Amino acid sequence: MDLNLTAEEAAFRDEVRAFIARELSPETRAKMILGREIGKKDIVDWQRKLNARGWAVPNWPVEYGGQGWSPMQEYLFQTEIEQAPAPASLPFNTSMVGPVIATFGSAEQKAKFLPATANLDIWWCQGFSEPGAGSDLAGLKTTARREGDVYVVNGQKTWTTMAQYADWIFMLVRTNPQAEKKQQGISFLLIDMKTPGITVRPIQLLDGGHEVNEVFFDEVKVPVENLVGEENRGWDYAKFLLGNERMGIARVGVSRQRLRRVRELAALERVGDETLLDQPWFREKLANTEIELKALEITQLRVVAEARKRGKHGQPDPNSSILKIRGSEIQQATTELMMDVVGPFVAPFPASIDDEDQTNDPPIGPDYAAAAGPTYFNWRKISIYGGSNEIQRNIIAKAILGF
Ligand SMILES: Cc1cc2nc3c(=O)[nH]c(=O)nc-3n(C[C@H](O)[C@H](O)[C@H](O)COP(=O)(O)OP(=O)(O)OC[C@H]3O[C@@H](n4cnc5c(N)ncnc54)[C@H](O)[C@@H]3O)c2cc1C
Repeated sequence: MDLNLTAEEAAFRDEVRAFIARELSPETRAKMILGREIGKKDIVDWQRKLNARGWAVPNWPVEYGGQGWSPMQEYLFQTEIEQAPAPASLPFNTSMVGPVIATFGSAEQKAKFLPATANLDIWWCQGFSEPGAGSDLAGLKTTARREGDVYVVNGQKTWTTMAQYADWIFMLVRTNPQAEKKQQGISFLLIDMKTPGITVRPIQLLDGGHEVNEVFFDEVKVPVENLVGEENRGWDYAKFLLGNERMGIARVGVSRQRLRRVRELAALERVGDETLLDQPWFREKLANTEIELKALEITQLRVVAEARKRGKHGQPDPNSSILKIRGSEIQQATTELMMDVVGPFVAPFPASIDDEDQTNDPPIGPDYAAAAGPTYFNWRKISIYGGSNEIQRNIIAKAILGF
């Protein structure tokens, strides 16, 4: 296994780094460094810059805008974006529904949706989870009954991230409640969020923010041409989609950037005649996390090197479950370190869903203090979504340990 970059790979990394330095708006970057919320505009503007460069959807098939990059190039690209830090591209568009439509969609769906999805002219949200159907996703109950040339959808989705911004939702719905196995009667539908009968209700989170929603469907009429692939084959498409979601799940660049920032700020924080960074307890905690991150990075590179050897990366490697678990634990550890840095200034943060600015209120204490508390609470989510860490342990037990 060779973990070193080739000269071409190093040149590619430098090209990506230079592009980000040139194109990323200083305001967006500053917000990200301070850990503040970035809004829809920051994400859309950045995605369009990437799209203009041809880098919005590098993982898609080449005929729809993909780059045909090697797994190492994809890894380098993602890590450079993360550690800049620049906004991540909207996963619902780029790694979820886009590849599904490109692979299983009709010619009309490809023409209508793919360019607009890459350019973020359409903002998608993901309607999979329901109350009672999260880890056990195949237990979903939202129905779609066929009536002539429409499906009529009834039911509820939950935890729908940023549905308040979404133009369209991609959904798993039950089209055959009589199917022998619950996985068999599910279909994959695309629904315009402006269709009558859809209600989006915000869920207020512990951090005071409005990131997720409940979405209700009451006799929602969806043209049959919005079915992706074949009726009752939606589970296959969902498995394909969730496999893509696991790529890059370790977010090594995010943790690297955050640890750099923690180190920088701890060196400014006075403790008597010294700084926080001089304190043995803090140094040890920080060093432990840095070492864990280095180990994670090497594991990530091993997975990439394996994929490079195979020459493709379609099938998710069961090792990516290790990346998910350790990656999420390390990201959460960075939020704890930041709480240590901020100390008592962590306490006040806004908690009203009606606040336009959410977490962007003026901080008490240093300017980086305001986001530390909300981020600590918000990032508990990382070990839940994308397949909870307990589910990942089940995968490791079965696929790697052979239980
Ligand atoms: C912030 C956030 C954003 C999200 N965004 C979206 C979105 O945009 N669209 C969407 O469709 N979904 C979204 N989700 C939902 C997410 O996919 C689910 O929360 C996740 O699948 C877990 O399901 P659940 O919440 O129903 O918990 P449950 O499945 O009920 O699990 C509860 C607990 O039991 C454990 N558990 C469950 N089954 C097992 C098992 N077999 N073995 C061991 N332990 C088990 C879990 O690990 C967890 O700790 C989001 C979730 C969060 C937190």
